[in-house]
Amino acid sequence: MFADLHLHSFFSDGTYSPEEVAAFGRKFGFAALALTDHDSVEGCGRMAAACREANIEFITGTELTAEHRDNEIHILAYFVDPENGKLLREIARFQRVRQDRIRQMVARLNELAVPLTEAEVFALANCRSPGRPHVARALVNAGHCRSLDEAFERFLKKHRPAWVPKARMSALEAIELIHQAGGLAVMAHPGLNHCDGVIPSLAQAGLDGLECFHTKHSTAMAEHYLELADKHRLLVTGGSDCHGMSKGKPLIGTVKIPYTHVEKLKDAVTSRRRREPAGGNRNS
Ligand code: AMP
Ligand code: ZN
Ligand code: FE
Ligand code: FE
Repeated sequence: MFADLHLHSFFSDGTYSPEEVAAFGRKFGFAALALTDHDSVEGCGRMAAACREANIEFITGTELTAEHRDNEIHILAYFVDPENGKLLREIARFQRVRQDRIRQMVARLNELAVPLTEAEVFALANCRSPGRPHVARALVNAGHCRSLDEAFERFLKKHRPAWVPKARMSALEAIELIHQAGGLAVMAHPGLNHCDGVIPSLAQAGLDGLECFHTKHSTAMAEHYLELADKHRLLVTGGSDCHGMSKGKPLIGTVKIPYTHVEKLKDAVTSRRRREPAGGNRNS
């Protein structure tokens, strides 16, 4: 039995509907899936229903952008209450910031004589949580770039001319936000962020887990993070980070973590809730 705990849908920058993601999950024989859209839990209801139909266990999730000591890190939230008032307010705030950032990126592109419009990007994104991949797709659709890679290389990558920094909450706030919503906080793809030095202090601050298995982690990297997880008593997670079709095939199915990790996550969330009952601030 296997799980994929890092998946995006069209409620953020993925291209598949939650139902399509669940259908792929069934095709690849997953026992459990989590949906982790950027700054959104909006697709979780639909994905839960689709997974129920497909006899797949579903875990509610989201991926938050955070920083710790000037490092950008992504924090995955699992088992959060999708109706938690504080979580929803913070998510709504970050979604507004993402929409403003799209406007700023389009303004930069216009200064560079690329006549892309906000309306084109928002129409294509068609979600509350737009991001750079939507700008990249809009650039390709309008014929300004030949590929998504070219759009990122020429304009959107960090420090490229149309790049606009993304607002981020502190990692400690993100962990606290997730805990008060009844969930577990996991550092996403540490191998891509090059800041292993922050792991001990985040573990100390209540981080629950480390995403050891990820599409872009080599076997050696996965082993390295398994050792760090063990050393700092962190749970182990993993997932494909599938955003839809990538180079001709979807990433879902390429990372399969043993279901035992899901059991450990469930035990941990149960004991955390027993220690620190959350639910109290539902809707508060
Ligand atoms: P954002 O949240 O708007 O900063 O966009 C981040 C997302 O852009 C990531 O989750 C990736 O899906 C995607 N991304 C980042 N860098 C690249 C790249 N060089 N090429 C293609 N996609 C990228
Ligand atoms: Zn993404
Ligand atoms: Fe990420
Ligand atoms: Fe992701």
